[in-house]
Amino acid sequence: MTSIVDLVARPGRPVSDPERVARGFLGRCPACGEGHLFGRYLKVAPACESCGTEFHHHRADDFPPYVVMFIVCHVVGYGIYVSETRFDEIALWIHMALWPALTLGLSLALLQPVKGAVVALQYVLGMHGFDAELRRRRDRRERGWSGGVPDQTEPGARVGPHEAEGRRDADPDRPERPGPPAPHGTPA
Ligand SMILES: [Zn+2]
Repeated sequence: MTSIVDLVARPGRPVSDPERVARGFLGRCPACGEGHLFGRYLKVAPACESCGTEFHHHRADDFPPYVVMFIVCHVVGYGIYVSETRFDEIALWIHMALWPALTLGLSLALLQPVKGAVVALQYVLGMHGFDAELRRRRDRRERGWSGGVPDQTEPGARVGPHEAEGRRDADPDRPERPGPPAPHGTPA
């Protein structure tokens, strides 16, 4: 069975910005698609456990609840309108039971995905502390490092050499990049 990781990670091909936002919507790291974006229900993890991309820059603040309210109010409001205008025989107790429960359920179900998408959008747009990450992505794209396995090289490039080394070992798709030249006389 295809897992969410298979759907969103897809190593070995370029990743578009909408796909990065979709990764966030699914609660995955927008950079690699493998690590988790959330530590708890609405608590964004400080960094990706898979590629090390830092998430603590995000400033989602109150925006996700506004988006959720916008969606839920339209769905529930339209549902109430249709049920009131087209169906006469619906008992009042059904309305009283259905709409509050649907409002609560939809809100709770949408809050995390919407917040994930907002954080991923900030990552894509290089907002707040993500601007350095965006510059590095553009830099690498301009220098042609995004040739064969573009996306998976990105997060590792922003960490220290020893960490990058470890992560490259852990990820077989991460291509080798030329290291510093060996000192003269050192056996290869
Ligand atoms: Zn990651």
